[in-house]
Amino acid sequence: MTAPTRTTLTVQAMHAIDQITGAVIPPIHPATTYARGADNQLIGEQDYRRPSGPTEKQAARVMAMLEDAPEAKLFSSGMAAIAAVIESVPTGGHVIAQTEMYYGAKLLLQRAVAKQRITLDLVAPGDLPALTAAARPDTDLIWIESPANPSWAVVDIPRAAEIAHAVGATLGVDSTCAPPCTTQALALGADIVMHSATKYLNGHSDVLAGVLATRETDPRWEEIGEIHSKTGAVPGAFETWLLMRGLRTLWVRFERQSASALAIAEALQADAGLEAVLYPGLPGHPGHAVATRQMTNGFGGMLSLHIAGGYEAAARFAAATKLFTQATSLGGVESLIEHRKPIEGPDSPVADNLVRLSVGLEDPADLLADLREALAGSHNAV
Ligand SMILES: *Cc1c(COP(=O)(O)O)cnc(C)c1O
Repeated sequence: MTAPTRTTLTVQAMHAIDQITGAVIPPIHPATTYARGADNQLIGEQDYRRPSGPTEKQAARVMAMLEDAPEAKLFSSGMAAIAAVIESVPTGGHVIAQTEMYYGAKLLLQRAVAKQRITLDLVAPGDLPALTAAARPDTDLIWIESPANPSWAVVDIPRAAEIAHAVGATLGVDSTCAPPCTTQALALGADIVMHSATKYLNGHSDVLAGVLATRETDPRWEEIGEIHSKTGAVPGAFETWLLMRGLRTLWVRFERQSASALAIAEALQADAGLEAVLYPGLPGHPGHAVATRQMTNGFGGMLSLHIAGGYEAAARFAAATKLFTQATSLGGVESLIEHRKPIEGPDSPVADNLVRLSVGLEDPADLLADLREALAGSHNAV
């Protein structure tokens, strides 16, 4: 038999038959400490859970397999994973990130600037000439997000890697919205890939977790490993077990969410109540050509709408849907809707009339009808 694909390996990620009970799903190992024998030698492979326990080891192996990475590490949240990468930048080091990116990550970078730990330049996502101009011989880290929240601008990862490597910098990619079933950032040239596993990887809005995977076990990765185990930003055993349970359906969930989001984006394009539909799967999206190359198994379930009528119409629309729940976050089985401006605040570059959708697993015809009804209602009210 030929080697099974990553799809098959992910589905069977927990399928390790317990030799004592015959259980087809492994137990959770909540133990924090592990016994030694009479010779003071460890009986098993680990001594204490903060560095890693058996449940975390298994989940990290699945993530490394998905990314074709030599190693992956699990964190207590996506932000904890990003914080570890930022902490690995030497004091005073130069970092380049994006004007448009996950809001919390940008705030964390700006905090590191305020504490004089780093210097920071921000460039528009996907603007490669600007990225080239910002890169300097002392640039330590280039941090990109693709597709980028919330316009879903696409960054050409191989080109960004060339720019980073030309100055000896590390390229880190927040690939939360392009999970490894559609994009393998390391294979495209990134040095580190990060996921908020809270989103598509777990997929059920009931686990907070983060992942980093590396292309090489180099000195930076060793440093990140130190930060990880010494600061203890690790997930609990139960959360990790739930994450593996969610991961098993990643491929089928992402495929369906991508297909539904594309159908909704296409159907809404001509809607008079909208000024724009932002979705990388639409040929008119500026990142479509690059997305077609590097999102090989679907463009994802995230899209944004610019509502005609500005801030007020966007607020009315987001409050009017019945199947889309008004809530932050993304990538779960249930569809969510969010008016971003009041969430991000006045300093954010996000447009006043932008509404973000996370398309779930409901019947796409029902979701479309819900959006159309809410759009009509929010405009009739003007
Ligand atoms: C949610 C999110 C994060 C942060 O992850 P948490 O698990 O919430 O800490 C980072 N980047 C992106 C793109 C996200 O959507």
